[in-house]
Amino acid sequence: MTDIIGTDALVDWISRFGAAVTEKREWLTELDSAIGDADHGANMSRGMSAVKEKLAAGAPATADELLKSVGMTLVSSVGGASGPLYGTFFLRMGMTAGAVTELDAAGLAAALRAGLEGIVARGKAEAGDKTMFDAMAPAVDALDEALAGGASVADAVQKAADAAATGRDATEALVARKGRASYLGERSAGHLDPGSASTAILFETLAAAVSGSS
Ligand code: ADP
Ligand code: MG
Repeated sequence: MTDIIGTDALVDWISRFGAAVTEKREWLTELDSAIGDADHGANMSRGMSAVKEKLAAGAPATADELLKSVGMTLVSSVGGASGPLYGTFFLRMGMTAGAVTELDAAGLAAALRAGLEGIVARGKAEAGDKTMFDAMAPAVDALDEALAGGASVADAVQKAADAAATGRDATEALVARKGRASYLGERSAGHLDPGSASTAILFETLAAAVSGSS
């Protein structure tokens, strides 16, 4: 466990995220079949498989090149709303991380915050709209708060993962105001938002990569 996140840990995170969305593909699709068009699992799995293939040819050595490559691959390989949204997240993260081989806790937090802001710039979601924002914003806030309180980066990303899961669960009661689910109006309530579920996985796998757990 260390307070420095090397590019190798970012590669590990991305690889864990890809494996997890592929493993949970059916569940993500099931969530999307209730309030969307039943493709979120396929979209995430297809996008992250394309990322895996791209990185297998050789992962870039710096955080910006790595994250930008992930983002561009997601934008170009996923047709649904989630492709450009997660793509923008990784692109903005990379731009903020910069041409470094290591991020400290503050650098990681700033990059994740920039990624969240990219999603907002692209999709205009606000708190309570029942989107991936409702898992990601509390996660990024919890990370900042834990670091400000003196937590180690491993503890802080675990807090972020817990906050993302709580945010995901809270989407169940919400009525969707963005994305396909908003077409259902009141009928979207009573179901978890699929994008918030994949975002909870994003932070869960970040915590696992940072702590180096299997
Ligand atoms: P599509 O909706 O095009 O089928 P996906 O099913 O892959 O794409 O992704 C749906 C998820 O994308 C939703 O569950 C929601 O979390 C997220 N989403 C949709 N629109 C927005 C938006 N404007 N801002 C943030 N997230 C959004
Ligand atoms: Mg869908």
